Amino acid sequence: MHLLQNYVAGQWRAGQGQPATLHDPVTGAALASASSAGLDLPAAFAWARERGGAALRALTYAQRAALLSRVAEVLSAHRDKYFDIALANSGTVQADSAIDIDGAIYTVAYYAKQGARLAEDAWRMDGTADPLARDDAYAVRHVWTPARGLALFINAFNFPAWGLWEKAAPALLSGVPIVIKPATATAWLTHEMVSDVVKAGVLPDGALSLICGGSAGLLDALRPLDLLSFTGSADTAAQLRAHPALLRGDVRLNAETDSVNSALLGPDAVAGSPAFDTLVREVVREMRAKSGQKCTAIRRIMVPAGQYDAVAQAISAQLARITVGNPRHADVKMGSLVSRAQLDNVQSGLAVLRTAADVLFDGAGQALIDADPAVAACMAPTLLGSRQPQAVLHHTEVFGPVATLMPYRDTAQAFALARQGDGSLVASLYSDDSDFLAQGAQALSESHGRVHLVSPEAAKAHTGHGNVMPQALHGGPGRAGGGQELGGLRALDFYHRRSAIQGAPPRLQALPEARVPEFAA
Ligand code: NAP
Repeated sequence: MHLLQNYVAGQWRAGQGQPATLHDPVTGAALASASSAGLDLPAAFAWARERGGAALRALTYAQRAALLSRVAEVLSAHRDKYFDIALANSGTVQADSAIDIDGAIYTVAYYAKQGARLAEDAWRMDGTADPLARDDAYAVRHVWTPARGLALFINAFNFPAWGLWEKAAPALLSGVPIVIKPATATAWLTHEMVSDVVKAGVLPDGALSLICGGSAGLLDALRPLDLLSFTGSADTAAQLRAHPALLRGDVRLNAETDSVNSALLGPDAVAGSPAFDTLVREVVREMRAKSGQKCTAIRRIMVPAGQYDAVAQAISAQLARITVGNPRHADVKMGSLVSRAQLDNVQSGLAVLRTAADVLFDGAGQALIDADPAVAACMAPTLLGSRQPQAVLHHTEVFGPVATLMPYRDTAQAFALARQGDGSLVASLYSDDSDFLAQGAQALSESHGRVHLVSPEAAKAHTGHGNVMPQALHGGPGRAGGGQELGGLRALDFYHRRSAIQGAPPRLQALPEARVPEFAA
C-alpha cells in the first residue's frame, strides 16, 4: 500500500496518527493511505508565501509560461502511469480517465502558450489612461498586480488531475505559489503528479506544496491577502464561508459547487432531426461519462411537450446499450462511482427524485460485468421523467448517472424551468432555429456560467456540453458557487489585484516597464 506523504516547506513529510485509506472502488482493495495530521501548517504556508512567492515574482509572465511548458512535458512523460492510477483509484474507463488526465495536460499547455504571448512585464496594464484633469495634466491608469499571498486549492474527488492543473496553471503564470489539498478519496493521482513535477525540479522552491489527508487547520493557516479556491459541494462551501478569515474578508474565495445543469431541445426539433439526435447523444454521453460524476453533467432535460415520449424512448434505447462494471474489462463502457459511500449518496438522492418523478429507464436490474454488486460502487444509468416537475427535481443534485426529463409548452416556460436550478454551471440548447438559440443565450446567461449552443452545422465540431475548455469561462452564479475560473487569460484576474494608479500622464507611461526589487511583506 502506498503512503501518500505531504510536500511542505520543500520536504516530503508523513502525517501522524491514523491515516485515511484510499480504495479501489471496484474491488474494494486498499491502495494507499494519507494523513496530514501533525504538520506545521503555518510554517509550511509561510515558506510557500515567502520562498515560492519571491521566486515566482522574480520571473516575467513569459518565463513562468516556460515553466508551465516544462510541467506539461513532465506530465505527458508519465501519462501511462496516471491512467493506471485513475483506473485503480477512480474506477474509470480509459476515455473517462482521459477527460481528467489529458484535460489537465492540455490546460497546462494552453496556459503555457497564452503566457508566452504576454509582455515581458512584471504586472498587467488594464486598459489605457483616463484623464482626470483639464489639459491632460493628471490621469488614472488601472493595473493588475500579482497577489503576494498564496493560493490554497481545496479540490473535489472527481478531477484529481484536471482539478489541480486548471487552477495551478493560471496561478503559477500569475506568479502566485500554490498549496493543493486534493479530496482524500482520489488524492493518489494528485500526489503522483506533484511528486513527478517536484522530482523534475521544474518549479522554484515553495511554488508548489501538497497536503494529503484531512483538512483540519488549513483555513486557520491562511493570512490576510491569501486566496482560497474551493471545488466541492455547496454544503462544504457554506462551512468554509463561515470561517473567520472569510467572514472578515481577509481571504478572497472562489467557489465552484453543485449545479443542476440543463439541456433544452428547441421547439423546431422533431424525432429524427439533427437537433433531436444530437441532444439524445449528448444526454447519454453526459450520463455515461465518469458515471455522471461531473459538476457540468446534464441533470435536467427540457423538451417540447409533443416530443416528450419520443425523447424518452430514444434516450432509453441508447442507455440500454451501456455496459457497466469493472473498467479493466474490454466490454465495459462505464466504470464505477468513486466509492461505496458515493454510491450510497447517489442512491439516496435518486430515491428523493423518485418521489416526484416516474422512472423512464431503470438501470437497477442491469447485471455488472466482472464486478461484485456487493462490493463494487458501480451503477447503471437511470432516466426519470415528470410532466409537472416539482421544485425538488430542480434543486437536487444527484452526482451520478441520473437525469430527469421534463416537457415545456413554450420557450418562455423552457427558459423558466432551466432557471429554477437557482444558478447553474451550464445549459445547452439544441436547435436549428437561430431565434431560439439567441433568445435562450440571453435568457439563460444571467443564471448560467456557460451557454452551449448546438445547431446542426456544429453537431460534430461542438466541444461537448460538459467539457470545460480553458478558453471558456467555468463557474456559475447562485448555487453553483458564484466562482469564475478559466476563460483564457481572464483566469489570471483572480490571482491579481486591480488598482488605480493616478499621476501625470508622462509618469504613468513608465508603469509597464517598472521592476521592483523584492521587498519584505
Ligand atoms: P466535498 O465533500 O465538498 O469535498 C470537497 C473538498 O473539500 C475535499 O477536498 C474535502 O476533503 C474538503 N473538505 C471537506 N470538508 C472540509 C472542511 N470543513 N474544511 C476544508 N475542506 C473540507 O465534495 P466532493 O464530494 O469531493 O465533490 C463532489 C461535489 O463537488 C459535487 O457536489 C460537485 O457538484 C462538486 N463539484 C463542483 C465542480 C465545479 O467546478 N463547480 C467540480 C467538481 C465537483 P476530504 O476529501 O478530505 O473530505
